[in-house]
Amino acid sequence: MTKTAPRPEIDDIDLDALRATYAHERDRRLRPDGQAQYRRAAGAFGYYAKDPYTAWQEREPRTDHVEVLIIGAGFGGLLTAARLRDAGVESIRLMDEAGGVGGTWYWNRYPGIHCDVEASVYLPLLEELGTVPSWRYAPGEEIRQHAVAIAEHYGLLHDALFQTRATGLTWDDDDDGHWTVETDRGDRMTARFVITSSGTLTQPKLPGIPGIETFRGHTFHTSRWDYDYTGGSADGGLTGLADKRVAVVGTGATGIQVIPHLGRDAQELVVFQRTPSTVDVRDNRPTDPDWAASLRPGWQRERMDNFIAVLSGEPVEESLIDDGWTATAALQRKVVSGNVDTTVPDDERERLEELQDAVTMNRIRARVDAVVEDPTTAAVLKPWYRYMCKRPAFSDHYLQTFNRPNVTLVDTADHGGITRMTEHSVVVGDTEYEVDCVIFATGFEAGVSGVVSGTLPVIGRDGRSLLEAWGRGPRTLHGFMTNGFPNLFQLGPIQNATSVNFAHILRDQAEHIAAVVEQARTVDAVRVEPRAEAEEAWVQTVARTARDVTAYQATCTPGYYNGEGTRSMTGASYSGSPLQFRRLLVDWRANELHEALVTAEAAEITTAGASR
Ligand code: NDP
Repeated sequence: MTKTAPRPEIDDIDLDALRATYAHERDRRLRPDGQAQYRRAAGAFGYYAKDPYTAWQEREPRTDHVEVLIIGAGFGGLLTAARLRDAGVESIRLMDEAGGVGGTWYWNRYPGIHCDVEASVYLPLLEELGTVPSWRYAPGEEIRQHAVAIAEHYGLLHDALFQTRATGLTWDDDDDGHWTVETDRGDRMTARFVITSSGTLTQPKLPGIPGIETFRGHTFHTSRWDYDYTGGSADGGLTGLADKRVAVVGTGATGIQVIPHLGRDAQELVVFQRTPSTVDVRDNRPTDPDWAASLRPGWQRERMDNFIAVLSGEPVEESLIDDGWTATAALQRKVVSGNVDTTVPDDERERLEELQDAVTMNRIRARVDAVVEDPTTAAVLKPWYRYMCKRPAFSDHYLQTFNRPNVTLVDTADHGGITRMTEHSVVVGDTEYEVDCVIFATGFEAGVSGVVSGTLPVIGRDGRSLLEAWGRGPRTLHGFMTNGFPNLFQLGPIQNATSVNFAHILRDQAEHIAAVVEQARTVDAVRVEPRAEAEEAWVQTVARTARDVTAYQATCTPGYYNGEGTRSMTGASYSGSPLQFRRLLVDWRANELHEALVTAEAAEITTAGASR
């Protein structure tokens, strides 16, 4: 953030008063049970996680060998597979619990679903596929279809295993080394390289509302939308709800997108809100064909790099994507990777950031007053916290929905959420709301990849488990590889860069992994494995450079960003800019990758040395 002369809207801000309001609003939402308030969509609640989109298909267990097995067929897995194909790898198998590719875009098909990061920089491999998105912010179905098109373009579907969950990875040093991969379908196959890209927000989460299991009406989670019940499609037209009283629980990024459709199509809609989201202008529009025709080769990479440079505080001549994300870039760097202005003393920068934050939040709160006609409803819809305490949302239809006569907003903040459910109703305090259907827009368990949660046990060299190796926190080189676990790569935010354009991060990760595998094949290495010292140096780098957001997140209203008010995310990811990180990886590949490549000869010498 650069030093600028104070502006009038800043002079009027009373930071002490604002902090007191934020603290009050946070305190009335803090729950003693923190993260334990939620239930997994498993066991008796497994119904909520069932796939409504693809019929179950029986198949014989597999016991064959592939060169590369990729767990997770979302954009991370697809991009890695695509880059490996480019590098000449033929034997690639994608595996996913879902019935098809797309990851989050496979599961989330709720009405109104869009990506609120501009499609030209979010959708991967647009130039490779010769496509330009139809809208500035693409609808979910177009994104899912794009994922399918990538899989088809790179020939990834014929050997893929869907409806399959990996249940174990075990390294075996025999025959130059390979992984044995076990699954819930009885497979026991082998792979030379395993890549996990199983996402961070995948497992649907339900509130542990007393009596939730007694509800006799219809109910489902937004990530498993029941179109058989609602009718219509992701574009709307939910005719099945025309005579229904519908409750929706949750007003996060998903709730914001789905609620306008429910408001329009349900006979009655009751929105149960605990914390309001920030809802900024979205300004979606169809892609201008003249603009599309004017694009020159290299346009997507240039646009993606420009967007991430602006977000992470790197200099650009011109900001190509001028939107709600670029406008608030400096505020996002509080919790995602990016440069901070070190020319300003820390406390002065903090003060300027806090003022800038207040200006943004005042504008967002003023928009609520401008749009929502009933002042009591408007008051409840105003967010009182700093901008990055929760994920920012954008919509030109959400706030307007509360002007409809068939829509009621129920504020549950003072009750910690919904009080209880009965056979036919949702109860808040003493008030009972009788409904036919309850839709949970209550999000996902954060950071739960099977590798981290332990549902996918990983056993490396010498029978050592990954979770044991990570007993005192993740240990990786650049977030991808861990000593003792050869030929295994992980995609994700741990000890890696992060951004609101996570598809960009996945692209860089995929390119890095593919380049490493390509080099391993070129020199005929049997193992790729970071040296313990290199791994330790990276763990220390991440810890030393981590931006301390503890104080910031301690002021935040509870949510998954701060473990429901119980902890902060400090130190989990690389704090510098993603472009800086990419340069660092390119440098590492040029100068240090050879140290991580173990040839058959070297492996033999090590084994012989160890046995002496
Ligand atoms: P969130 O976790 O963000 O929101 C869950 C909602 O459920 C919150 O409003 C929460 O309230 C509410 N809730 C939870 N428990 C209760 C309860 N007991 N009573 C009442 N309300 C309750 O999930 P989302 O699915 O909205 O979003 C998850 C993530 O998915 C986003 O952060 C984003 O990363 C991604 N996403 C991205 C989109 C995009 O366009 N790129 C679109 C949609 C989602 P409270 O806030 O008080 O906890």
